[in-house]
Amino acid sequence: MQVIDDPVAARRWVHERQREGKRIGLVPTMGALHDGHLSLVQASRAECDATVVTIYVNPTQFGPNEDFQKYPRTLERDLEQLRAREVALVFTPSDAVMYPPGFSTYVEPPAVARRWEGEHRPGHFRGVATVVMKLFNIIPADVAFFGQKDYQQTRVVLRMVEDLNIPVQIKVCPTVREDDGLAMSSRNQYLSAEERRRATALYRGLQAGRAALEQGTGSPHAVCQAVRQVLIDAGINDIDYIALADPESLEPLEVARPPAVLLVAARVGGTRLIDNVVIPKY
Ligand code: AMP
Repeated sequence: MQVIDDPVAARRWVHERQREGKRIGLVPTMGALHDGHLSLVQASRAECDATVVTIYVNPTQFGPNEDFQKYPRTLERDLEQLRAREVALVFTPSDAVMYPPGFSTYVEPPAVARRWEGEHRPGHFRGVATVVMKLFNIIPADVAFFGQKDYQQTRVVLRMVEDLNIPVQIKVCPTVREDDGLAMSSRNQYLSAEERRRATALYRGLQAGRAALEQGTGSPHAVCQAVRQVLIDAGINDIDYIALADPESLEPLEVARPPAVLLVAARVGGTRLIDNVVIPKY
């Protein structure tokens, strides 16, 4: 496994393998790897000849009062896990390389970035779109793998790739959960034991909402209320949003009918968690 922090060397590495006819898979991450990230690596290994993982905590997608400074950084452990999974290349750029003095070009994210995370984390998707675009240019992979865990992010990336004619195929992989349903996240490390127990309410709430939707009687408001009740019962009061939305546009549904995505963002203690379930058309 090679570890490279220079964009020119990384791009050369990819081009050399593509010239040999190899299909290259890309898994962008911010590190602090868990089984959710590793499921993307496995998906890439299953369909590509060589997998590239990027590890970069991207400062431009964090707001001024967010957790950029304290975000977990566990590079040595991450590299061990990737080595064990026969990843071919890990790209670990520095801030100085990604955002050198004078850097001032950003990607204006698509309309699907406007609501939900976009509203509660101003500038977040501008940072995401910009860094993902940069990573696609540095690692010109054939396929890139993203997790459904960050549902709105997948819609932003899919739209950007289409709108800007980026020659990469996007694959969205299912959310990997702990046994009790909590979606795996690098931020789960921030939770105390008691908060960790309460955090299971996010997924339980989403399931209650899905059940309300599938019973077919409720309005979108009633579906969201079903989610809210489970959160409130677990003592989670600091809720950024609960939304029943169109799975493509992410606009709120006017009628509670699949296909839909049910999205939630809430703080458990000081830790902001997000989760979602997609309810396909019957
Ligand atoms: P992050 O390191 O949080 O930026 O995540 C890197 C990639 O891993 C993104 O595409 C995430 O959606 C994906 N990911 C994070 N958590 C999970 C999970 N629990 N299941 C599946 N994919 C995940």
